[in-house]
Amino acid sequence: MRNLKSGYFFVIATLIFLIVGLSGCASVSRKGGVQSYVISGSRYFSLLSLCDLNNVKWDYDPLTRTADLSRLDHRIKLQTGGKIIFVDGSPRKLNEPVEIYRGMLVIPVQFRNIFEAMFSKSAVGEAISFNKIKKVIIDPGHGGKDPGTPGRSGMPEKDIVLDIAKRLSGILKSYGVETVLTRSSDNFIPLEKRAALTENSQADLFISIHANANNARSLSGFEVYCISPEISDYKRALSSARSSSLDLDKASLASPDMNLKAILWDMTYTYNRGEAIQLSRDICQSIGASVDTRIIGVKKANYCVLRGAYIPAILVEVGFLSNRKEEQLLNDPDYRQKIAEGIRRGIQDYAQGAAGVKPEKQNTNLVKSKEGRR
Ligand SMILES: [Zn+2]
Repeated sequence: MRNLKSGYFFVIATLIFLIVGLSGCASVSRKGGVQSYVISGSRYFSLLSLCDLNNVKWDYDPLTRTADLSRLDHRIKLQTGGKIIFVDGSPRKLNEPVEIYRGMLVIPVQFRNIFEAMFSKSAVGEAISFNKIKKVIIDPGHGGKDPGTPGRSGMPEKDIVLDIAKRLSGILKSYGVETVLTRSSDNFIPLEKRAALTENSQADLFISIHANANNARSLSGFEVYCISPEISDYKRALSSARSSSLDLDKASLASPDMNLKAILWDMTYTYNRGEAIQLSRDICQSIGASVDTRIIGVKKANYCVLRGAYIPAILVEVGFLSNRKEEQLLNDPDYRQKIAEGIRRGIQDYAQGAAGVKPEKQNTNLVKSKEGRR
């Protein structure tokens, strides 16, 4: 009886393993990369792809809904739907649970980071995982006569953001991504000029980097701004169609019809805004998983530097210089390196997802609009 019972369980376990495993394989469409999915606005990764990529052995028990991952001396135990995982026997709490999605076990960014820290063979998968992102424009805010937020006891905003921008540029270059800095020294560049650099640049993304300040000194945290949807894409499109020498395609070039050009630009802006929101979410998630800071989230704003961009553009606020603790952190080069690494990881997550998977929901954590001189 006992043998029969365990045999029965074995057959079921094998069947489920095969179903889960095969459907996982079928959906891995990128060579070298790991398939990712957006579930309720959060990025998830196929656990099977990660295991395959890193030669990690895994067993799934459908009765307890637990999985065991192991390679050499290391082991991770998890349960589907659960937020607690056991890493070499020690419990770790995740912000998002392990899920089953389209018949596959999928894990959140935070778990993926733990997984890679423990099992990653090398950066082989990383080198090719920026997919279509080949060039990024990095815009350190302020500079020269404009110091930005004054550092009360340390560096002013213009110096802090220039340092983070240079670090991010160096990291991206080491992954083979080309970068352009709107300024690489302490000089003043008008906002319009920064945004204009995106035209004819062949760049894929525009990332402006700033540090925050608020009268409420207790306020702290990391946030990312995208262009506000209230800014009419069509209005921007019309002005672009009139002023731009950029040719979207042969049809628009040949046509004297401004309206057609404007419609093409309108589509571009709408697409760019959607991409910017997803990029912002991926960066917030990645920073939240790797840096000990409060994540305020994704916000919309009518910032000049975002409004004028011809490619997906975001503005990152790395922290509040008006908050004593956060100012101290931002004055620490190790912390600035962590922020730059977190942004790099977010861009990479976005790049992996952007190749095939579009965001399912567009508007879960957008909050109040904001205007200002950025
Ligand atoms: Zn600023």
